Amino acid sequence: MQHQGRRDTAPELALRREVWRRGLRYRVDVAPIRGRRRADLVFTRAKVAVYVDGCFWHRCPVHATTPKANRAWWVAKLDANAARDRATDRDLDAAGWTVVRVWEHEQPAAAASRVLAAARARGRGGPGAAPARSAPSASSCAQR
Ligand SMILES: [Zn+2]
Repeated sequence: MQHQGRRDTAPELALRREVWRRGLRYRVDVAPIRGRRRADLVFTRAKVAVYVDGCFWHRCPVHATTPKANRAWWVAKLDANAARDRATDRDLDAAGWTVVRVWEHEQPAAAASRVLAAARARGRGGPGAAPARSAPSASSCAQR
């Protein structure tokens, strides 16, 4: 529900491509810990989880809006989403994970730099940690 049934959104794909291009390898769309939202990129050994959050659903401070129709319902729904995000952050932190949250409006290059910094800070997953020469397949990178 957090993900609203969508995955492989354009912002996710752009970030994945950029992180891949810089030499990091990751798992896609897996839950770092049981019972919490699946992360978009997961660095299992480094214990870094990356979530690409949609500006509307996750209340980006720049672009958050609330529909006028059924306003009370939307406020409750979107507040619940944000509260669940914070609960996920707390649970992952308590389990020893680093959480990186990326807004869908962020430039992929800037977001990838934050992801790399987090992975390197954990001592693994940086360039050279898992060298791979092949590019992602065209299908896994296709734009919507
Ligand atoms: Zn935004």
